[in-house]
Amino acid sequence: MTVASPSAEPKKNRSNRDDFVSKTRTALALRAGYRCSFSKCGMATAGPSDEASDKHVSIGVAAHIAAAAPGGQRYNPDMTNDQRASIENGIWLCQTHSRLIDVNPAAYPTALLHQMKAEHEDAIKLEMEKMKSAPQCTDFIAVGPNIVFVEELVAVEENVWTFVLDNFVIGELGQLTRYIDQFGDLDSYDKFVLVNDLGDGRELSSPPAWSKSDRGILIKVGVMRSTPRIDAHRLPMDLALNDEHDLFILNGQLARVRGLDALPQKIKTCLSTIRGEVFYAPTYGTRIREYSTDFLGSPWLPKLIKLETIRMASIPYADQMGLNASSTPLKAVRKVISVDQISAEGDDGWFAFRFHLDVEGIGAWVRDIKLFIPRVI
Ligand SMILES: [Zn+2]
Repeated sequence: MTVASPSAEPKKNRSNRDDFVSKTRTALALRAGYRCSFSKCGMATAGPSDEASDKHVSIGVAAHIAAAAPGGQRYNPDMTNDQRASIENGIWLCQTHSRLIDVNPAAYPTALLHQMKAEHEDAIKLEMEKMKSAPQCTDFIAVGPNIVFVEELVAVEENVWTFVLDNFVIGELGQLTRYIDQFGDLDSYDKFVLVNDLGDGRELSSPPAWSKSDRGILIKVGVMRSTPRIDAHRLPMDLALNDEHDLFILNGQLARVRGLDALPQKIKTCLSTIRGEVFYAPTYGTRIREYSTDFLGSPWLPKLIKLETIRMASIPYADQMGLNASSTPLKAVRKVISVDQISAEGDDGWFAFRFHLDVEGIGAWVRDIKLFIPRVI
């Protein structure tokens, strides 16, 4: 018996549509975990029926990304019938969202739908991988800006840190080997290692090295000395921000803060700065917005935000003039013990987080601080 490939027999029905064959519809549904792929919907599209104990209901729709029939803005006359009926041109949606994209083709161009589909499938994959790796319950390590992995073990010596790589969260082995090969040409601000378990990070003194061991992939990184932190009581004077995150007037002049009082807003402004948005310092800033978009609703998001907080606490940033090379953006933060999102609900883009930090001159310090994480539209 021969099995037809999903795109082998697209049917043209009465209205000249290139419909999906049932095998394609099933594969789309399975890849979506039978949940709607529309951004932030995730609605279950299959479940038990009240009618009988062996019945189920299915309300999912295998929707076309580029329209199945002529007419409308999402129809692409250059596509073949097979392409229109192929799984690449499908997205699994609930009925509401399938209807929404049909009546608003201008608001939902094909590129956006392809993006939603890819993000949804990634999220489903993450959920499955989380279940697979849950027993070890290990934490994240970042090596440079584009590689994050789950580690199994950490050996911390003065100049060398060693990990066993469990699995990649961002990047893959090829990316790591490229990072190693190109190490000499990298921006020095991209040469770092961040370890959630330690709440600390370091600049790298040499390219990482990896080898296969019976425990998995062993990664060794040479690290520089820890960058000295500043006693929080001696944080310099800064303009103060009020609860609306604005400058304000006190006693006839712009209010100012210094010392420990300046730390919360330093954390707020630093972590709310998006990497790439400061034109004269393109590598400065965090990737919290990017991670919040890519990992929305995932248990991995707090771990990624913790990594970024560690980076700002431990890796010195020299500005274009070469100034401040000897201090870190968060200046007084020695270690990041935890960063937890307090509420999933944002207030005009501001989200509250609880920071447990180890602060120079203070010790353990806990504070709720709002970060600005605008949604990527
Ligand atoms: Zn939906």
